[in-house]
Amino acid sequence: MTDIIELLPDSVANQIAAGEVVQRPSSVVKELVENSIDAGATTIKIIIKDAGRTLIQVIDNGKGMSEHDARKSFERHATSKIKSADDLFSLSTMGFRGEALASIAAVAQVELKTRREEDEIGTHIIIAGSKIESQEPISTVVGTNFMVKNLFFNVPARRKFLKKDQVEMNHILEDFRRIALIYENINFVLIHNDGELYNLKSSNSMQRIVDIFGKKYQQMLYPINVTTEIIKIKGYIAKPETATKGNTTQYFFINGRYMQHPYFHKAVMTAYDRLLHPETRPSYFIRFEASPQTIDVNIHPTKTEIKFENEQIIWPILSTAVKEALGKFIQAPVLDFEQEDLNIPTLTSDTKIKAPTTHINTSYNPFHSSGGASSYKRTTPMEWEVLYKNFNKSEEREDVSQTEIYDSEENSIDIESPIFENKCLNTCVQYKNKYIITTIDGELVYINQHRAHERILFEQYLSQEKEKRKVSQQLLFPEMIELHEEEVMIMDSLMEDLSYIGYDIGEFGKNTYVINGIPDNMEQSLAMKVIQEIINIAKTEEKNIKTEVDEFLAETMARSTAIPYGKTLSEKEMQDIVNQLFKCKNQNYSPKGKTIIIKVDEDEIEKKFK
Ligand code: ADP
Ligand code: MG
Repeated sequence: MTDIIELLPDSVANQIAAGEVVQRPSSVVKELVENSIDAGATTIKIIIKDAGRTLIQVIDNGKGMSEHDARKSFERHATSKIKSADDLFSLSTMGFRGEALASIAAVAQVELKTRREEDEIGTHIIIAGSKIESQEPISTVVGTNFMVKNLFFNVPARRKFLKKDQVEMNHILEDFRRIALIYENINFVLIHNDGELYNLKSSNSMQRIVDIFGKKYQQMLYPINVTTEIIKIKGYIAKPETATKGNTTQYFFINGRYMQHPYFHKAVMTAYDRLLHPETRPSYFIRFEASPQTIDVNIHPTKTEIKFENEQIIWPILSTAVKEALGKFIQAPVLDFEQEDLNIPTLTSDTKIKAPTTHINTSYNPFHSSGGASSYKRTTPMEWEVLYKNFNKSEEREDVSQTEIYDSEENSIDIESPIFENKCLNTCVQYKNKYIITTIDGELVYINQHRAHERILFEQYLSQEKEKRKVSQQLLFPEMIELHEEEVMIMDSLMEDLSYIGYDIGEFGKNTYVINGIPDNMEQSLAMKVIQEIINIAKTEEKNIKTEVDEFLAETMARSTAIPYGKTLSEKEMQDIVNQLFKCKNQNYSPKGKTIIIKVDEDEIEKKFK
């Protein structure tokens, strides 16, 4: 037998790699502009024709390239920015993978003119589909000028897949803003089809926001500013009353790079607690600076999520900074009960964060003791019924162990059960039918009853929802939804995930979809809200939508079924809540990121008695 494995020619390998890097015209704009910034440019001009389909040109006054480097820059893994894997942990440039130019040149016709200050003559290269067509000296200004023409000219399937100009242009604009917002010291010009969309002069960060989003932002924003040893946080947050529905002007940056960070987003939203009308979103522009060693820049070329080593420590710092900014400008009593949170000490990298302690009993047998839900069958039958009705019927059929738990009498929490030793056998007192006051490990704590129960139910739902295909209920009168242009593409990419959770959706003419079926046992109005919410999430966060959907559903159901404020609880019910709360993965925050527990220090009490 002859051997059958062969290496792919470079041009093919580049084209495959390009599938990752160059998803659409906006990716080209982003990569080229980032290169210009890395080259130290102070002025960057971007010229777009037909939303990037025909031309994407980026002209900079950066340091330019030598003749040799110009040629080499199109090779895969050709980069001047890192030399070894270790350098990945001390990145200070936007690019580092050395695959952008190789990828772009694999799927477009590219022309490069570049010259360094020290060279008298520049270099002119034409390359198309990874093949160098010509390389000649040229007399040109210092800097670099990339022209990318006819994107995907040699990949008809991809070219056909490009969305309407408006959609592609929106992507370009968003990627442009994500860069221009953080590099306020660089002049940017953006031209589309001979019309000048932006002409941004080097200025300060506030002025840059105003130049991009308009004058009204000047009055809308409060500054935030905090420096600790592990993180510097600076930027602007919007007045709560300016929050709007579907607002997407929410920006995080880390070390000069746009990022998405749902966890920090929640920290910010927590700080706005109760200041916002439900479902509205405030604008924010927040810059983080951290030592590159403490963050993990996503190696994936198009992902914008970034991991921080100290996420748990940064959360309260961020949330406090936002709260303080809001508190400074807004009159009390808006922060009343939550105000305790403001006393978070300034943290340094060696501060030890003491996690709430739970005691694990090794004799715990999951088959003999309750998994939370069941206790509510007994203690609060009303809520459990609602919960059960709303929940997926397939649960009964598919999951024997669950059914067992639901039906078995002995699963109700038995207060004598040894699993709760060391935990809340203490007296619980209810305050204003809203808070549970008790002691945990000898410390006085206030627990928000609704939020605690929300967290308990959320984690239960989540573990039950995972990996299950949901049943669909057909609608007698199908609902229509009309989407904005930019949402259409998102909807297309979500259809499969939505069908997975029980939606039956069909296309229905321009920008319109018909909903024929919704998840079984979900109310129609809620189902429609869920779709819109999922699209909103997909618009702003590049997250796994299946997980998002599960979380959203679990969150919504937990919210609507958790015991409400105003409900009087028996002591045993309170003890159940406390005990179950401490079995949760996260005891401190509700699914929406709101504080559940407040500790009162003995010191504080002593002080009051002085
Ligand atoms: P990366 O940015 O990850 O290094 P790229 O493929 O984007 O990889 O670019 C390859 C190399 O080409 C860069 O490392 C840089 O040395 C050079 N280069 C690209 N664009 C420019 C530019 N506008 N000015 C100067 N050098 C550039
Ligand atoms: Mg690059």
